[in-house]
Amino acid sequence: MFDYIVVGAGFAGSVLAERIASQTQRKVLVIEKRNHIGGNAFDSFDQKGILIHNYGPHIFHTKMEKVWDYLSKFTSWINYHHEVLGLIDGQKVPIPFNINSIHQVFPGTIAETLEKKLINTFGYNKKVPILKLKESDDEDLKFLAEYIYDKVFLGYTLKQWGITPEELDPSVTGRVPVYISKDNRYFQDPYQGMPKEGYTKIFENMLFNKNIKVMLNTDYKEVIKIDFDTGEIKLFNNIFKGKLIYTGALDYFLDYKYGKLPYRSLQFLFEQFDSDLIQEVGTINYPSDYNYTRVTEFKHLTRQVASSTTIVKEFSQDYVPGKNEPYYPIKNDSNQELYRKYKDEVRNMNNIILIGRLAEYQYYDMDMVIAKALKIFDEKILPEGKME
Ligand code: FAD
Ligand code: UDP
Repeated sequence: MFDYIVVGAGFAGSVLAERIASQTQRKVLVIEKRNHIGGNAFDSFDQKGILIHNYGPHIFHTKMEKVWDYLSKFTSWINYHHEVLGLIDGQKVPIPFNINSIHQVFPGTIAETLEKKLINTFGYNKKVPILKLKESDDEDLKFLAEYIYDKVFLGYTLKQWGITPEELDPSVTGRVPVYISKDNRYFQDPYQGMPKEGYTKIFENMLFNKNIKVMLNTDYKEVIKIDFDTGEIKLFNNIFKGKLIYTGALDYFLDYKYGKLPYRSLQFLFEQFDSDLIQEVGTINYPSDYNYTRVTEFKHLTRQVASSTTIVKEFSQDYVPGKNEPYYPIKNDSNQELYRKYKDEVRNMNNIILIGRLAEYQYYDMDMVIAKALKIFDEKILPEGKME
């Protein structure tokens, strides 16, 4: 009855289900273990009627026109450019740390010297990862790098990951480079914004299709059996001849046979206040103070007008399967090696497609997942042909 099974109704699974259903007319069964669609991008209205992101703040931003155009089929946009302030020695300064931040924390002449040296060394509008800035030969830039490292990166990274920036894959702290600019925005991508009616509405629009059936509250193992020796897949005890698109964690898929893939998890604490807005900007980062990493006030993001407001505090923690959620893959050589061992187990099974932040063990933003899903559809699924 079904041509494709998709496990997981996040962006990876929903984009593929939507493309298959609308472009090939084939039948798709989406199986989702949570009681809702949308994966970690799910949003909903809280008791006070405020639109919140249940799995932490999600801001859409991309350089890829194709991804923006695709998503724009399912939503219109609120023009929103995310801004973040970091609490440093009692002052709130722009993050990524930039020229405005320098002038806020250093006296005039020192700030001017640092600004000039940064521009002369790297150029205006350039982004420099903190670990690269730390390698500077110049004494002043070295001093600046140590300052930013200590005040912005060290405490935050220890809280978020339990390890220092040096112990992490450099691409992780490289996501928030020192920015030689006076642009206070968190992202400079040409396309950014928030979906006008929220993220969940996008998923509803994608999945509402006569060729798609969604099963919620179902772990795929309740209805699917896979024989990894023969490649045979059974759905409800019947042999399934189509393709399985899997967007969950790969260690779980293979029953943890080589051990658990490490992830970082989070605990979210939502708080409501009877006032219009309580923060200056969407997110405040707390590199050194408190035991949470950041606090986001949703109404800045969504521009919702209401007399109360809701914030979320993020507390990082170890991931324990069955107890909390695997939010962040921890990228390093040994974890990549373990992931590859799992991947090798399914490499020759051409009826299984792995995609998404969990199944690929990649620190993907939403746009990367959507781009990947569109590519897989164009290259692997569309050539198999449409229904006559
Ligand atoms: P997911 O959204 O995780 O979807 C996977 C789905 O599979 C889930 O619904 C899960 O329940 C389901 N599933 C798993 N196992 C099974 C199973 N055994 N049976 C059935 N179903 C299963 N990206 C941005 O671009 N901007 C941001 O601002 C941003 N902020 C973020 C903040 C946080 C705190 C986090 C954690 C992520 C953030 N992201 C952000 C990243 C974004 O969430 C991901 O890129 C995106 O959600 C990945 O989509 P996905 O479909 O790969 O995974
Ligand atoms: N980071 C930091 N201080 C900050 C912001 C970011 O140390 O004020 C580091 C930290 O290691 C974090 C990483 O940069 O995990 C990536 O930050 P980003 O805001 O991209 O994280 P995400 O939004 O994915 O949680």
